[in-house]
Amino acid sequence: MNGNTNVSEKEGLALASGADPNDPASYASFIGKQYAPDLCNERALKFIREDKDKPFFLYYPTTVPHLALQVPEDSLAEYNGKLDDKPYAGGSGYLPHQYPRAAYAAMITRMDRDIGKLVQLVKDLGREDNTIFIFTSDNGAVFPLSGTDPAYFQSNGKLRGYKQDIYEGGLREPLIVSWKGHIPAGTTSSLVTGFEDWFPTLLDLVGESKAAPENLDGISFAPTLLGGKQPERPFLYCEFHGVGGQQAVRVGDWKLVRQHLLGTPKKPAAPTTELFNLGSDPAETTDVAAAHPDIVARLEKLMAEQHVGIWRPPDWGLLAAGFPSKLLRFMSQPTSSFEFSLAGRKLAARSGILALMDDMGQALTLDPHMRMLGGGNPAVVPGLQSLVRERMAELLADTGGFDRMMVRYDPPQGNPRFLRALADLLRREFGWDIGPQNLAITSGGQSAFFYLFNLLAGKFDGGRQKKILLPLAPEYIGYADQGIEPDLFVACRPSIEWPQGRDGKVFKYCIDFAAVESALARGDIGAIAASRPTNPSGNVLMDAEVAHLSALAAERGIPLILDNAYGTPFPSVMFVPAKPFWAPHVILALSLSKLGLPGTRTGIVIAPEPVAKAVSSLTAIVGLANGTIGQQIVLPWIESGKILELGPKILRPFYEEKGRAAAGWAREYFDAAGVDWALHANEGSFFHWLWLKNLRITTRELYERLKARKVLTVPGEYFFFGLAEDWPHRHECLRLNFSRDADEVREGYQIIAEEAARASG
Ligand code: PLP
Repeated sequence: MNGNTNVSEKEGLALASGADPNDPASYASFIGKQYAPDLCNERALKFIREDKDKPFFLYYPTTVPHLALQVPEDSLAEYNGKLDDKPYAGGSGYLPHQYPRAAYAAMITRMDRDIGKLVQLVKDLGREDNTIFIFTSDNGAVFPLSGTDPAYFQSNGKLRGYKQDIYEGGLREPLIVSWKGHIPAGTTSSLVTGFEDWFPTLLDLVGESKAAPENLDGISFAPTLLGGKQPERPFLYCEFHGVGGQQAVRVGDWKLVRQHLLGTPKKPAAPTTELFNLGSDPAETTDVAAAHPDIVARLEKLMAEQHVGIWRPPDWGLLAAGFPSKLLRFMSQPTSSFEFSLAGRKLAARSGILALMDDMGQALTLDPHMRMLGGGNPAVVPGLQSLVRERMAELLADTGGFDRMMVRYDPPQGNPRFLRALADLLRREFGWDIGPQNLAITSGGQSAFFYLFNLLAGKFDGGRQKKILLPLAPEYIGYADQGIEPDLFVACRPSIEWPQGRDGKVFKYCIDFAAVESALARGDIGAIAASRPTNPSGNVLMDAEVAHLSALAAERGIPLILDNAYGTPFPSVMFVPAKPFWAPHVILALSLSKLGLPGTRTGIVIAPEPVAKAVSSLTAIVGLANGTIGQQIVLPWIESGKILELGPKILRPFYEEKGRAAAGWAREYFDAAGVDWALHANEGSFFHWLWLKNLRITTRELYERLKARKVLTVPGEYFFFGLAEDWPHRHECLRLNFSRDADEVREGYQIIAEEAARASG
């Protein structure tokens, strides 16, 4: 009986030892009494007859032409002796067969006859006019296995790959649809569709298109079948965790293929990326990724966005037992089908950074020996850590104060004593004309930016749209997906300077003010925003650059937002002089995270009073109040002014030394590897921004290769959001966090140099 589950083990069954493969009697024990496809066909015919007066839906998943090769004698006779057969004696899967080619052809012919019977019955019952017949499959032809011979039958024509591959030979399927009086007979279409399109298509065909949920991936191709205007499919994405983990995405003629993403029990992950032009190269013979890094980056981004949930490690037991892989994939999907609002969909969509952070998180979970040069965690800085511990002990000992801190909500704006102390400090030290009314605490700087960007940009009265202008890309990836409205950012390319000459291997981004002015001339900029020091590059905008931005913003009556997460007045992880900057139209965002307290989630906004009030209002709506602990830990340091010394005395020397050591390893290993490299001037933060000029692959691909060698980095592509035009430079940089232990960083840089050399030239 075909489809017998107990014969699907790897070795399958074989002829008895010594049996003659040319003697039909040797196969007698493998021939059953009933043929499953015949039984299925009989039941289907019965179903149609019984339901002949009602609307019906018949799903007829025929079990042939799957392995094992089995077919009744009458069908085999049609091909036997005609196909130059050699016996398959078994032992490499499924069942032996004396005439494997004839059996395969006969199975297909019998299936064709069975389907013919169904069609004929529908005609005989007079229901042909209102019955739609669909014939299709779920993957390309099977690879040579257990007697099948796809090369002989040219099952996939010239296409590359077979079932389970994400090359076209594995993906393309026959599709025949017939509907008398509705679909013109004999017509063909080259429209690219995916299985996900069937649901909306079927609903459309039966006049129920309104029943389709809004968030479907599928696009109805009923218009193509019925002769209407077909909406375009922007891309077709597929992924398969089997065969080492694979992804493919197609946009027009371009197709990107990524393989070996997860590895198998026998072969570790070693991701590869290939780009094909299916228009000129349908057989996918020539990988053109190196010639089109911009297209690779675009399609990789799509892949990152489309991949949802986790890569579920394959269940080798189930797969080996022939458990349908698509079912496994389905089981790994989130199951919620509730409808999200437009804003909800935008915010809950799989952003690039979420995919990356997940990927990094999983890599770390799966392998605790990863060298962690990705992510933005600060170091445990001993001098600062001991101060925090002392302060915690003090708080614990102050019973009343401790209880107040833990069991009371602060007002949404923040702790009043903290706000007063901070305003006093900033007035006293820098002469800024601010009071507590200009301050608002948030849950980390991250929330502050979400509030500020969406307050100042997006949709406005009268259909106006406003954007946030980033005067210098690359900029902090954490902003990228914060807009409730799409495309919230406009970014400008900087100029690149070589302060020590080109041979110095140190470059520095400078704001291109002509580009900034032309962006401002668009007339739709709601605010200018920049981080100082910048994550990822470690650039510190010069005092003159900040003053110039401030003047441009003031002229246009818009705010300048300065993100001082690493900068002045604290934590001051900066290695070049830079003045704290404030003006009445400036919004400053500070944070306790890079001081060493990211776990307390404490952000601070310094802003014109209405903006500070709006931020407090958002805090109340989103979270009632903020965490109290961070404010209480640093309160005495704010009151005494000591907080301003922590950076210069403790953090700066610590990180400066780390950066210097890491730069030394970069020079040693990259020069030795013969790579064309440079580092951005390390002026602040704890990142190196590495520029690899002759890469033949994208940094996303390099990231994968490095991850396979246990080094986690962040590919630079993610930091150039908001730039309208492509720029080769965006595919050539990596962000490296150098704050970890020396050995971890040194080994990491060494491996990066090796992999960069392999991928350069
Ligand atoms: N701004 C920059 C430039 C950052 O790098 C970060 C975190 O890495 C943040 C803001 C947000 O940090 P938090 O929310 O921890 O204050």
